[in-house]
Amino acid sequence: MVKQTIQIFARVKPTVRKQQQGIYSIDEDEKLTPSLEIILPRDLADGFVNNKRENYRFKFQRIFDQDAKQETIFENIAKPVAESVLAGYNGTIFAYGQTGSGKTFTITGGAERYSDRGIIPRTLSYIFEQLQKDSSKIYTTHISYLEIYNECGYDLLDPRHEASSLEDLPKVTVLEDPDQNIHLKNLSLHQATTEEEALNLLFLGDTNRMIAETPMNQASTRSHCIFTIHLSSKEPGSATVRHAKLHLVDLAGSERVAKTGVGGQLLTEAKYINLSLHYLEQVIIALSEKHRSHIPYRNSMMTSVLRDSLGGNCMTTMIATLSLEKRNIDESISTCRFAQRVALIKNEAVLNEEIDPRLMIIRLQKEIQELKDELAIVTGEQRTEELTEAEFLQLEKQITSFLEDHDPESKLEVGADMRKIHHCFHYLKKLLNDKKIHGTSIASSEIKDQNSQEPLKEEEYKKLQDILQQRDNEINILVNMLKKEKKKAQDALHFSSMDRSELRRSQSSPFPPGNPEGPRMLPPSAPTQAPDSSTSQYRSSLLHGKTGMREEMSLGRQEAFEIFKRDHADSVTIEDNKQILKQRFSEAKALGESINEARSKIGRLKEEITQRHVQQVALGISENTAVPSTPDPLEEKLRSQLEEEKRRYKAMFTHLKALKVEIEHLQLLMDKAKVKLQKEFEAWWAEEGTSLQVNSPAVNSLNHMKPFPQTPESQHKRSQLLSNKSSGDWKVPDQGPQVVSCSDVYARKILPSPGPLLHSQEQSSPSTPLEDRIPERPVSSVPLTGDSRTDSDILAFIKARQSILQRTGFQ
Ligand code: ADP
Ligand code: MG
Repeated sequence: MVKQTIQIFARVKPTVRKQQQGIYSIDEDEKLTPSLEIILPRDLADGFVNNKRENYRFKFQRIFDQDAKQETIFENIAKPVAESVLAGYNGTIFAYGQTGSGKTFTITGGAERYSDRGIIPRTLSYIFEQLQKDSSKIYTTHISYLEIYNECGYDLLDPRHEASSLEDLPKVTVLEDPDQNIHLKNLSLHQATTEEEALNLLFLGDTNRMIAETPMNQASTRSHCIFTIHLSSKEPGSATVRHAKLHLVDLAGSERVAKTGVGGQLLTEAKYINLSLHYLEQVIIALSEKHRSHIPYRNSMMTSVLRDSLGGNCMTTMIATLSLEKRNIDESISTCRFAQRVALIKNEAVLNEEIDPRLMIIRLQKEIQELKDELAIVTGEQRTEELTEAEFLQLEKQITSFLEDHDPESKLEVGADMRKIHHCFHYLKKLLNDKKIHGTSIASSEIKDQNSQEPLKEEEYKKLQDILQQRDNEINILVNMLKKEKKKAQDALHFSSMDRSELRRSQSSPFPPGNPEGPRMLPPSAPTQAPDSSTSQYRSSLLHGKTGMREEMSLGRQEAFEIFKRDHADSVTIEDNKQILKQRFSEAKALGESINEARSKIGRLKEEITQRHVQQVALGISENTAVPSTPDPLEEKLRSQLEEEKRRYKAMFTHLKALKVEIEHLQLLMDKAKVKLQKEFEAWWAEEGTSLQVNSPAVNSLNHMKPFPQTPESQHKRSQLLSNKSSGDWKVPDQGPQVVSCSDVYARKILPSPGPLLHSQEQSSPSTPLEDRIPERPVSSVPLTGDSRTDSDILAFIKARQSILQRTGFQ
């Protein structure tokens, strides 16, 4: 761990006018810490009523005067930080100072000369040079570039930036994990394998920042930019990875509201223009005060992001940029004061090492193999992961004879193989647990324990049993669901036949009235995996919520819905899907039954095998012979049957799963189609309601020949008619004297409706002749939904119009 206070440096920007030079002096004589003296000109000093001092002295690690070259700055300030980053420590360099004092020049560099390159390009160059030199480690470098403006984070390297402006991209946000580590959401990390790639990223970010800048939003002076180099390193073959981050920060201009000597105010009272700098100062004050337990990092995004750099796990350096001209004296003093406080902050940098679990596994696997090889050399036999069947049998024989042997000196010799030792214990424990060991019949205990002959098989058996149980439950749920659906369909049938004969068709509808969700072929709890069920539940509730459908529909509406549905272009697709769904569901049901059969067959076979085993052992005991060493052919046969059955079961189960996925998908499609249909119906119904109010039902119905959402043919027919019409008025063929006077209404209506329909009087066909608009009832007094009396009126209207349409050959 490296304990260090934040290092502070000062850099004085070259002044334009030489005469300004008397304002400050740098005292390098003090060997350890040089100091900068700022001399307040007399006329200015008078302004500071409460502060009669005429000069101020500030200590810095080093002070770079106007003639300091970028190279010198890099060598003295950035290089040591870069070195510690290469060693695995976090580092931060931030420039602080008023606008125009040279922060960007110092951090990024000047745009004119190559020699004006700032800290970022020089550090990148240095880091990549070092990485190339050091072949003892494997390094990876990533770059991120964050801008914080008005407490919002922007990813300057977001690849989507080309398509949309920075403001429209998802904002970068700060997330804190339970260990109080900060994570930045939506900030992209870009791998850079060469210096060139890294520089390209810097330029890309700077360009994006420039593009986002407008005169109104002077991002460059008001925003903070954090260019971060993420470096990870590991030695070849090692599982330990080191991560280090280097933040290179160009802060917003530190200028404050109060300018030189305004009304004798104290400098410290002046407020930052930039709010996050205000919070940065608060954090710095809190950190520099002893015994402060709470540090308000969370107050701003910038302090959250730089949390580790300020009083945390980081080696931090501050560069105070100063523009020491007469008019900037107060800002320069503020900057120096800020730096003095920053210098008190202690950081504790630690190596950020972590073990990569992937690499660890590989290493351990290698070690295991080496040990196995070694063991094989010592024992002279190759060891497998598990004991073989023959070894199990051999061991159990040994245990049996050991137990039967009354010689107190007898030993159970299994060698130094831990697998065998463990198996012996396991086997004996089983015997004890079964209490058979105390019984008189050794035979029965042996029989009982035949199952544990192969402990792994038993485990497998248990697992299978659990799975079977689970599947059983699922199938039960499926069957119940099916029964419910059937009942629902029957109820609907019963209901409709009682009510109206015309409604009979609704029973075959994929979406029975009153159940806007349509039939759920699979119950929410039926799917084999819980997450699936929640998805489907979520999906259906979402769909339901989105459409705002009513649970109950009046009979009139139900019937109208049926008519609407029948003529809807989508009805074919819905019907097709419904058929497929039905087919799949019956397939699933049949498969479920076969699975059940296979399961019970597996159970039976197992039973038979056990019985056979018991018989064999009993036979062996009665004839006083050991368990026969040759395998019993019948048992073998049963076992192979069992295997076959298990395979079949598995195959069927996989198929059932695939079917389930397909069913879910089909349901989703139907849900969607249903929502669309329902929405269109609602709109159409509402419009029909309006039409009913503005027309006398029979005669004028043709004026409002609002067709259902068009099937392609009907639409074609109508558009032909439309194009044939020569004037605004249009005669219905073979319909005697009726003259449709509002063809534009017709034209408007066959176009897709432009959005949710409003049912205001103004909206009801502005081009409708006045006489047609006399409503039977005021529109506003008619509820358009849910009122069954009104609904039946609308239905009657629709039907009347339909019959006219049919007669006129439009349907
Ligand atoms: P800031 O980022 O603090 O607002 P800039 O870095 O943009 O300030 O500097 C303002 C102007 O001063 C720029 O034109 C820059 O090139 C110039 N400048 C700043 N520092 C120096 C320096 N040390 N040497 C030469 N020019 C500098
Ligand atoms: Mg700048």
